[in-house]
Amino acid sequence: MIEVSHIPTKPALESLVREALFRQMGRRLPAVAAPVLVVNSSARHMHISPENLETLFGAGAQLTVHKWLYQEGQFASQQTVTLVGPRRRIIPNLRILGPCRSLTQIELATTDAVQLGIELPVRMSGDIDGTPGGYVMGPKGMLEMKNGIIRAARHVHMSPSDAQFYSVKHLDCVTLKVTADGCTTRFDDLIVRVDPAFKLEVHIDTDEANACNLDRAEKVEILK
Ligand SMILES: [Zn+2]
Repeated sequence: MIEVSHIPTKPALESLVREALFRQMGRRLPAVAAPVLVVNSSARHMHISPENLETLFGAGAQLTVHKWLYQEGQFASQQTVTLVGPRRRIIPNLRILGPCRSLTQIELATTDAVQLGIELPVRMSGDIDGTPGGYVMGPKGMLEMKNGIIRAARHVHMSPSDAQFYSVKHLDCVTLKVTADGCTTRFDDLIVRVDPAFKLEVHIDTDEANACNLDRAEKVEILK
């Protein structure tokens, strides 16, 4: 869109001239610069409903911020719990992410599931029917989860303009390619999640991050 309500600034004018020249030459403008792709690993964590938070931390309990995360408004809270699996194997210091949600859910990596002794299904966040449950211990009480323990399906958060850049839509699957120390790892089935509130960010779990040596990655790409 060309704004005519004011005199264009010098850079805007230059870009208009450039567009006109390209049009005259019958060529398309060079592609816009790629958005910055951030890849982060999600360590095991818990999402919790306000009611379940009160069960574990007492009446009127609130989550408090330990560290802000990359997505706007999301944070690792100061609150941690202990997850007890079958045969009394435990995962201590399981951190709760805030803010509270309507659904209580725990996201683990495969190594955590082995330690706990449970079968871990891969699910999209929120899709917890038929998933294993467990007992969660907090400082003020214990919570029995009937279900809700999952390995979160690897995914990429995108705004609509990022989705346009990659020519993908909500729930499409793409591939993440990570190059570290000259060694390439590809993760297929990376689910695209589009929301106007999202910043461009891939979430993989800690096992996946270790497998591709994410900490030493020199290049990360999304392939269709
Ligand atoms: Zn995510």
